[in-house]
Formats: sequence, structure tokens, C-alpha cells
Amino acid sequence: MERADVAIIGGGPAGAIAAQSAASRGAKTILFEKGVPREDRKNIGPDSTDAAGILDYWVDLMELDPSTFPNDIILRHLNCAEFISPSESVCLHKTGIKSSYPHFGYTYNRTLFDDWMLERASSAGADCRIGETVREVIVSKTGPHELILRTGDSLFAKNLILADGPQRSITLGVLDQLLPSGMASNALGTTVANHIAYQEYRKIPEDLFEPDKIKFWWGHIPGHTAYPWIFPNEGCTARIGVTMPIGMDINDVSDRDSYLLLRPEDGQIPKCNDYIERLLSFIFPDLELSDFPLVKQKGKRKGTETYPISSTQPIDSPSHFNIAITGGAMGATSAFHEGGAHVAIRTGKIAGTLAASDSLKQYNSQWKAAIGTEIRRNVAFANLVRGFGPSDWDSVFRITNRVLNSSNTSSTLSALRRAGLGGFKLLSTYKKEKFLLRDGRYVQITESDYHSP
Ligand SMILES: Cc1cc2nc3c(=O)[nH]c(=O)nc-3n(C[C@H](O)[C@H](O)[C@H](O)COP(=O)(O)OP(=O)(O)OC[C@H]3O[C@@H](n4cnc5c(N)ncnc54)[C@H](O)[C@@H]3O)c2cc1C
Repeated sequence: MERADVAIIGGGPAGAIAAQSAASRGAKTILFEKGVPREDRKNIGPDSTDAAGILDYWVDLMELDPSTFPNDIILRHLNCAEFISPSESVCLHKTGIKSSYPHFGYTYNRTLFDDWMLERASSAGADCRIGETVREVIVSKTGPHELILRTGDSLFAKNLILADGPQRSITLGVLDQLLPSGMASNALGTTVANHIAYQEYRKIPEDLFEPDKIKFWWGHIPGHTAYPWIFPNEGCTARIGVTMPIGMDINDVSDRDSYLLLRPEDGQIPKCNDYIERLLSFIFPDLELSDFPLVKQKGKRKGTETYPISSTQPIDSPSHFNIAITGGAMGATSAFHEGGAHVAIRTGKIAGTLAASDSLKQYNSQWKAAIGTEIRRNVAFANLVRGFGPSDWDSVFRITNRVLNSSNTSSTLSALRRAGLGGFKLLSTYKKEKFLLRDGRYVQITESDYHSP
């Protein structure tokens, strides 16, 4: 019967850093990654779907210095983010949050990054089994937890770290053993808790390529925190993507004529790839789609990839049973700003470090101390913009622009503070949302909700 001190399910950023952190502290650590084929990786590996943008202060949050990355991982240093609504656009050159990183952010090669993270885990002594799928976990109150693999083999581990991402293929089954019936899927089921995110790798004509800017089109497609984006990569390649809630009904969209990427003949919400085609012809009306060829040797399939992104509030882990849920699986990521690698890395690191010394009971308080401010801000922003339509985005960006044009300030919050009545109203609504989330109230399943298996 095989045993480990720490078992980790999932080999994305959260799982890999958990494995490295546990193994480097002497724990017998085994990581299982089911293995996903990609065009840009020779063998199977982690899923690695990501627009792969990192903002300045995320660098500090994830405690991973990009100057230590192998040379080919960073693709572009960023100078700004542009937010475009139907009739306004705002360019932010600072996030306005204290950071040690000298640029606005960077984009990176997520596939190479994930491979490097797993190599670091293996070098630290973790046994990283790529291509091994965990089928089920049987949770034990007192003894080790049993992991049943797709092969039928079992492994027993005292500490379990769930890093299986927003699909939660194992996390949901574990939670079902510890929560009242239906609670886990109501909170974290994929269609309620996730957005779908789709992207294409396309070449942009050189004179139109913007190498140091990420761009987001808000209020162009319906749905809460639904938007297309363009992120610059190496050469003149860009990742062009769309994030939107799963299963939207076009008949529920009010004022549909005001969404520039919807068409009167649409009988249903367009597919993500149709949105991308429409976005390109909207921005570059004189060009054809064939002027932006797909880079077919990238992504999961012929230059494209799709994967969920968690759009929910995070959950506490059943850490008194020596189980930690990390990253996308715990809902710490945010479809609001397409961000999550930073919180995945930080929560994975905390979980691996604690698991190595059999101290997972401290996990919930430690992750809140590390990323609670970020989560609270993200959840408050996502709540603030609930129900926003195109004209709301126009008005927010108009207010922000007014301030940016009249002062040196380029952070959103200070901009709002100086923007007169509209800005004041927005700021006070944001503050109210934040207040409602005080003392960890952004958590939607608390430690006390868990019962014995
Ligand atoms: C299109 C898109 C764009 C994004 N853009 C950004 C961005 O610009 N910046 C940013 O910071 N974040 C972004 N994110 C979010 C970011 O990618 C995630 O937050 C991050 O990947 C979460 O890491 P993770 O390790 O928790 O999970 P994942 O990266 O999802 O890793 C989970 C791993 O678990 C494996 N697995 C699942 N089930 C099993 C099983 N039963 N057995 C074994 N292995 C299993 C999967 O194969 C996968 O490799 C984006 C996400 C998407 C989809």
C-alpha cells in the first residue's frame, strides 16, 4: 500500500508550488496531474490555459520574483491597461497599489511557466506524476485520506491538497462528503460558479500590434463581468479572448441593441469565437479575419483554447481534516479581472508549507492574512458592477477620464474620489460593498459548515 505525507491533485501553478514547498521541507510528496495535450508542448502536462497577464502588485502577492524565471518565460513588459466602453476609453498606467515591480505588469508563456514550476517541484524532491488522473478521494476523519487513481491503484496520504482548478473534478466529491447535501454544488457547481474563457492566438499586422498594452472591452457584450480582451505576446502574436457567464439566455438581455458586439439577428448568445471575429472587424473595419491568422502551433488545439475561470467567492477549507483547497478550486481567482495565477501560487505555497509540518489547521487563517485584501477588493468590485450595462460603463470611464485628464493621479480609486458627484456615488457604493465583506465575509463556505465524513 503506497503512502505519502502530502498528496496533491493538480499540477497547475497552485499544485506545483505546493509540491515544491512541501518536498523542500522534507515531506514525502506526490503530485498527480492528469495531463492535457497542447500544441505548444511536446508531452502532456498541466492544462495551462491562460491569457497570462500579471499586474505589478501581483508579483509581490505571489512571492515569485520574475527575474528568477528562465529567459523565455516573460513575453512582454506592460506599460498600461486600456479599458474601452462603447463611447469612452481609459488608459491606466498604474494599478495604484503599492508594488516592488517596476512595470505595470507582464505577459508570459504559461506553458513554459507551468513546466518550470513542475521542474522546481521535482528538483525539490516531489514525485510529480504527469498523466495520472485521480478518480476519487475517500476522506477519513482520523486516518490518512485514500486517493483512488484511474488505474484502480490507491494511495494513502495524511495531508491532502486539492489544486484541481475551477472544474473541481475531485474537490466537489470531497466537499460532498463533508457538507450538507447539495451545498457544494450550489456554491461551486461549474455553471453557477464559473465563467467560460476562450482565447485564440492570432498574428496582428505589425503596424497595428501594441506590444506593451493589455486591452479590455467592457459593456460590449452582455453578462456580469463579460468582456473580450487582447494581450500582447511574443513577435506580433496576441492572445485574443472572451470571458462570459456560462449558459446565458439572450432573451434575458435587456436593451440588447446597446451591445456593440450583438446583432439584431442573434437568436442566442454568440459563441466566443464569433465574438472574437466581431471584435476584430469592429476594431479594424478595413481588414479581413484572414489578416489575423491563427497561430496554429499554440494553444490546446490549433491556436485556440477554452477553460473555465472561477467567478465565485472563495471557500474555507476543511483544514481540521488536513485538507487544503487552493487556487482556482477554492474560487480565489476572479473573472472580474481575469486574474488568478497570483492567488493560486500564494495559496498553493501556504498549503504546501503547512502540510509539510502537519499544520494544515492554520491554512484558512494564513491564506486570509496573505490574500484577504485582494479577495475582498475583487469581490467588492464584482458586486459593484453587477447589472452594469453599456451606458454604466461609459459613465464610469467618463468620470475616471475627467479626473485622469485633470491631475497626475492615474489610479482608479483616487480618480473616483476626485470626480465629483458621480465619482462620489461610485466610491461610496464600493466602500459599502467592501464593508459588507469585512472580517472574511467574502467566504461563501466557512470552516464551521464542515461536518465529519
Ligand atoms: C482563458 C483564461 C485566461 C486567464 N487569464 C489570466 C490572466 O491573465 N492572469 C491570471 O493571473 N490568471 C488568468 N486566468 C486564471 C488562471 O489561469 C487560473 O487562476 C490559474 O490557472 C489557477 O491555477 P490552479 O493551479 O489553481 O488551477 P489550474 O491551472 O486549472 O490547474 C489545475 C490542474 O489540475 C489538473 N487536474 C484536474 N483534475 C484532476 C484530476 N482528477 N487528477 C489529476 N489532475 C487533475 C488539470 O489538468 C490542471 O492542470 C485565466 C484563465 C483562463 C481560463
